[in-house]
Amino acid sequence: MKIKILVSACLMGFRVRYNGSEKAKVISQLALWEQERRLVIHCPELAAGLPVPRPPAEILCADGSDVMHGRGRIIENTGHDVTEHYQLAAWLALRTAQEAGCRAALLTDGSPTCGSQNIYDGSFNNIRKAGMGVAASLFAEHGIAVFSETQIPALIHWIEEREG
Ligand code: SF4
Repeated sequence: MKIKILVSACLMGFRVRYNGSEKAKVISQLALWEQERRLVIHCPELAAGLPVPRPPAEILCADGSDVMHGRGRIIENTGHDVTEHYQLAAWLALRTAQEAGCRAALLTDGSPTCGSQNIYDGSFNNIRKAGMGVAASLFAEHGIAVFSETQIPALIHWIEEREG
């Protein structure tokens, strides 16, 4: 049985923010996994009804886990509090992953939802800090292995270890 992977929808649009060779590697690996029918393509924020386009949002002085446990807030750069929308986005993403049997997730870094290695610091000054977004942290808490788009080799290795 091939391990299924929930993947950030925006990664499948190949809007990865890296140099050409890195991008080419991401594209070819994603294409292979898609051929193998491993991928469950999902955008948590769209699934929760957030519009496109939408104002940028950041987690204030906290991380995704804090937000999911009611200890942190997410606001847009307009000052509008969108914490509940992002909490819903995380829960819907978890349900999607669980229903599809995903054991891993490949998520776009930096996002207050999908970020897994880093997120923005809440100042709206384009400053990143280590931390997870709401969906990434919820996945991790529920036993779904989380990887960012910069960790494709680690994800390949993780799959190989389990599939032999
Ligand atoms: S990073 Fe944002 S746009 Fe991309 S899938 Fe996650 S929630 Fe959607």
